[in-house]
Amino acid sequence: MSTDLLKDALKRVNTIVEKTGIEQSTYQALAQPQRTLSSNISIRRDNGKLDYFEAHRCQYNDLLGPTKGGIRFHQDTNVSEVQALALWMTLKCAAVGVPFGGAKGAVTVDPKTLSPMELERLARAYIRANADFIGPEQDIPAPDVYTNARIMGWMMDEYEKIARQKSPAVITGKPLIFGGSAGRESATGRGAFLIIEQLSNKNNWDNSDKTVAIQGFGNGGYHCARLLQQSGYKVVAVSDSKGGIYCKEGLDIESVYQEKQRSKSLKAVYCKDSVCESVEHDVISNDELLSLNVDILVPAALAGAITKENADSIAANYIVEIANGPVEADADPILNDRGIMVIPDILANAGGVIVSYFEWCQNRQGEAWDEQVVNDKLANYMQDAFDKAWELNREEGLDIRDAVYKLALQRIQSALQAHGTQS
Ligand code: GLU
Repeated sequence: MSTDLLKDALKRVNTIVEKTGIEQSTYQALAQPQRTLSSNISIRRDNGKLDYFEAHRCQYNDLLGPTKGGIRFHQDTNVSEVQALALWMTLKCAAVGVPFGGAKGAVTVDPKTLSPMELERLARAYIRANADFIGPEQDIPAPDVYTNARIMGWMMDEYEKIARQKSPAVITGKPLIFGGSAGRESATGRGAFLIIEQLSNKNNWDNSDKTVAIQGFGNGGYHCARLLQQSGYKVVAVSDSKGGIYCKEGLDIESVYQEKQRSKSLKAVYCKDSVCESVEHDVISNDELLSLNVDILVPAALAGAITKENADSIAANYIVEIANGPVEADADPILNDRGIMVIPDILANAGGVIVSYFEWCQNRQGEAWDEQVVNDKLANYMQDAFDKAWELNREEGLDIRDAVYKLALQRIQSALQAHGTQS
């Protein structure tokens, strides 16, 4: 990743602050992270050798509550990326009205090179390095890129061993048996799907006319694709880090998923007739996927997929950001001028943290809610935030990204004022 993500993220915040009349003091409060703990953590490999990894946890801002955000395991992550992601978590929680500040964590590692036991040792080592920094009333981690419920379970277990007490609310996205929430696994994808359904309602779409391309087939991308297909949309393309498949009649997402689980790569899936209604399906690159002539493009992989260099080649009318930061700030005006509506990450992918909030509430109350209850509550949060942004878009002419940022920044501004002179 060539750009400095935090700089890029702050540049966008500053532009929006100036455009929407938010106070400069609010920008100042967000212009740098409150604190970041960087550690060098080590694990014993299966062959007996010790290996070292760079690890970070950034608590960007806690004006609205204990900080919240996932931990990613990825070979290309670095401290600036972690801080940018933690800033986005701050804005995301504020935008959708959950009472959390923002945080993020990461380990610089290619998790595919670790055995399951090494992965467990790494998860536990991360918590040993951060145990004094996190806590259910302080900073609450969750899954992110290449981490999952199983890893959260190991992390919770390690934290509880150190704390010498049960503490399920210290981490969300855990296995159900440890107090995880029903509906958390699919929450990010469901949230994005609910946003697309809102667009459909506002525009009176016939869903079966609408085509969707999804870049990234991780947890968020897969669940969103599955729900879209169930609601009649044609998901014509999906991809993973190595490339994707395209079928103009629409893919059968469940078959694609099963094949991907089996063969580990979407490239190997393309020749299976079961995934597509027609035999005319093909392998495409990630760049080709981004410029497909579809109605809705869903970047669901990593940051920086759409830049000022390729923004002109986007043919979709809507971009729904499941990934964090898939559009660089310099691409915003280009997409805007071309009339492409972008639903920003801090709204479109907020389903995950909203259900994490429900999980934290359940843990603190000793409750376990039904999946339907969780899904209904999630739909209310998503709809409320979407409606507010839509209203600002209609009434003040703000594009949706600016509108969602304005909502988030207003809440942070109110918290700053309420904290008084000591904040
Ligand atoms: N990693 C997810 C995100 O980027 C979820 C964070 C959480 O649940 O705390 O929004």
